[in-house]
Amino acid sequence: MNTGMEPTLAKKDEQYVWHAMQRPGAAPLIADSGEGSWFTDTNGNRYMDGVSGLWCLNLGHGQTEIIEAATEQMNKLAYFPLSLGHQPAIALAEKLAALLGGGFRTFFANGGSDANETAFKIARQYHKQTGSPEKQKIISRYRGYHGNSLGALAATAQANRKIKYDAALPGFLHIPPPYAYRSSFGSAAEDDQRAADFLEQTILWEGPETIAAFIMEPIISGGGVIYPQSNDYYKRVRDICDRYQVLLILDEVVSGFGRTGKLFGFMHGDDDFKPDIITLAKGLTSGYLPLGATCVAENVYQAFDGKGETSHFRHISTYGGHPASCAVALKAIDIIEREQIVNRVETLGHTVLGKLKQLEQLSIVGEVRGIGFLYGIELVQDKQTKEPADDDTMKAIVTACQKQGLIIGKNSDTIPGGGNVLIIAPPLTSSEEDLAFLIDTVSSVLRTFA
Ligand code: PMP
Repeated sequence: MNTGMEPTLAKKDEQYVWHAMQRPGAAPLIADSGEGSWFTDTNGNRYMDGVSGLWCLNLGHGQTEIIEAATEQMNKLAYFPLSLGHQPAIALAEKLAALLGGGFRTFFANGGSDANETAFKIARQYHKQTGSPEKQKIISRYRGYHGNSLGALAATAQANRKIKYDAALPGFLHIPPPYAYRSSFGSAAEDDQRAADFLEQTILWEGPETIAAFIMEPIISGGGVIYPQSNDYYKRVRDICDRYQVLLILDEVVSGFGRTGKLFGFMHGDDDFKPDIITLAKGLTSGYLPLGATCVAENVYQAFDGKGETSHFRHISTYGGHPASCAVALKAIDIIEREQIVNRVETLGHTVLGKLKQLEQLSIVGEVRGIGFLYGIELVQDKQTKEPADDDTMKAIVTACQKQGLIIGKNSDTIPGGGNVLIIAPPLTSSEEDLAFLIDTVSSVLRTFA
């Protein structure tokens, strides 16, 4: 494998580009082209993308129908704001309402952070307009990620992403998620129930009259692939939110559009489990263009009745609901439905998880978790004490996979260190050969470190 970087490009990169999340001087991987679940860097090396870019490129590279949909839309109408309207936004909002089971209306955003900011503003304004103006606090869960802008970051309960900016925004509280492997409540068996009880306790301690909303990812993704043991947790959370008139916001930015083997993460709950607000991005366009969506239950929308000077929603972003992005989303959804991607992920996901689970025999693997095409491999120094693997080991494993042509990720939310969960989320269209390569590579690398 050719490991030298093409010199002028590398130099220019170092001189001009400020890379997301990287320390200065970290050697980047510069991509040139992509095909399916694979991409080629500027030195001609091929890699399987085991994290779908940033868990967004769900349908892989080279979906020509999506590219044509964008071109066609740009030729027809390059841009139009959504303070007015355009056909692709109407069609997409109608489609999303149908996919969500009806009763939802969509406010379009630019991406996930923006969709969550929008949700928080809607929740806060909703209570001001329905006679509970003090209901303004937002509760979220430790290890959850909700975005990089200040409001979304305030809800993100991963200390090392926010420690330098934390004082800015009041009104955000965090509670532990259900996480049986490291139960915050000292009981794996009762972890789900106690995590839900803690939500109720927090609402009571804070005063229900002060709580606007509870936001969670149905399945925590970047924070380490963490989810309840039974769907009873979702029911309990819904009941508690109803009891105290707290809006339930589900961040489906990663879990939406098939990633977890259901069309949406909330579909892992009972048939009647429905949030009040759902935020979407990433897989919505399969990463081909930026787009976010805040889908709001009709009864919440009704509070924005436009009566009086300030009762409508004074919120706009130039590119939210861009016509080309909406056209791309419609085509991506078309492909998901036509190719029965969700069924595929559900079925193949079980097989892949079964194979990855065998890694739990290794001394460094504490737990392998997974749902659909989203897997977390939690690494430890000692299986008994569960002391997390150190950051150097984690980085070395990710680098070793990369040297063998596989890109995987890891969470970055613990202090000190950088997180001890390897994260794998291949494109939902990955072939069985691709998946076999992924399993073989991760397995052989982990064996060398065990
Ligand atoms: N929510 C979740 C669950 C996410 O994983 C992310 C991005 N990783 C976001 C929100 C923020 O999305 P964006 O980066 O598009 O702002």
